[in-house]
Amino acid sequence: MPLPRLCIVVPCYNEQDVLPITAPLFVQELVDLEEKGKISPQSCVLLVNDGSADGTWGIIEDLSKSDARIQGVSLSRNRGHQYALLAGYTVACQVADIAISIDCDGQDDITAMERMVDAYMQGNDIVYGVRSDRSSDSAFKRGSAELFYRIQHAMGIESEFNHADYRLMSRRALSALLKYHEANVFLRGLIPLVGFSSTTVEYVRHERMAGESHYPFRKMLAFALDGITSFSIQPIRFITFFGIIASLLSFVGMIWAFVNALLGNTVSGWASLACLVCFMGGIQLMSLGIIGEYVGKTYLETKRRPRFFIEKMTPRLRGEQRAASGSVTSDGASTKRD
Ligand code: UDP
Ligand code: MG
Repeated sequence: MPLPRLCIVVPCYNEQDVLPITAPLFVQELVDLEEKGKISPQSCVLLVNDGSADGTWGIIEDLSKSDARIQGVSLSRNRGHQYALLAGYTVACQVADIAISIDCDGQDDITAMERMVDAYMQGNDIVYGVRSDRSSDSAFKRGSAELFYRIQHAMGIESEFNHADYRLMSRRALSALLKYHEANVFLRGLIPLVGFSSTTVEYVRHERMAGESHYPFRKMLAFALDGITSFSIQPIRFITFFGIIASLLSFVGMIWAFVNALLGNTVSGWASLACLVCFMGGIQLMSLGIIGEYVGKTYLETKRRPRFFIEKMTPRLRGEQRAASGSVTSDGASTKRD
């Protein structure tokens, strides 16, 4: 079996502080793996510029000029981490046999890649990087992440515990993933749906090497909501169930109110009535919100908008893509030339 060609896919958004530190580390890992005879010498690091507003793309261009192993694509605007990854996977699927996605901030242990490649050679199409220790994350981030995984599992969504977006995928797993055309992309939930044989590799998560996190609480919450509502209709079922219970209870309440009115005690019921009205109002608003979330998702899906556009590529990558007889313009759709 020939040595697999590896493409390390790295989404980068406003990462001018950390990229010059981590890019050489990714290249070093490629060199090490090559020397150990585990991957092909044609392997590369693919830096995906997700519409950064700082000097990230300039740095990517310079890096690719100084090192033949570094290649880059630039999206036409900021599309968010998940779409940036998808863009990287789309290109990797054309130029490599396996892709490993990793954040560019150095938080994930780069040396775990060797074990991932080994697991691939043993016949796994997907290898999930799983954090064995999150002590570098704040107690709040750890706690909220754990709660999120538990809620997801309670809702029947398969996802790997403590796995972020550090994973290896074979070309056939990637091309299967690219056949999912949904607009609400939550890769951690989507990839287990693809199937194929998979395994996990443990690693220790570190602190960011430089720069700041792009996931403040507000974004994390939105991401978590997407992660649930993109895969499960349990919350709507829960509302229906709750609605039935509330209706039964209010039926009892009506009888109680009617009896009280007959007995001439009506004024004294004000407080309990007010409580009931507030409670039911809250429940109704929450229910409408959850239903609205799904209606909104359906609305976004029906538009079938392209998920990203690639605006620029480093020259070498352009050449390789031509050799692969197609070029990626958007959304994984390959446009044949000639
Ligand atoms: N990222 C991206 N687009 C965005 C936000 C983030 O491509 O709109 C990238 C970012 O450059 C990094 C990765 O996604 O490589 C994870 O982001 P970050 O480290 O800020 O998240 P955290 O690790 O704090 O959850
Ligand atoms: Mg990070």
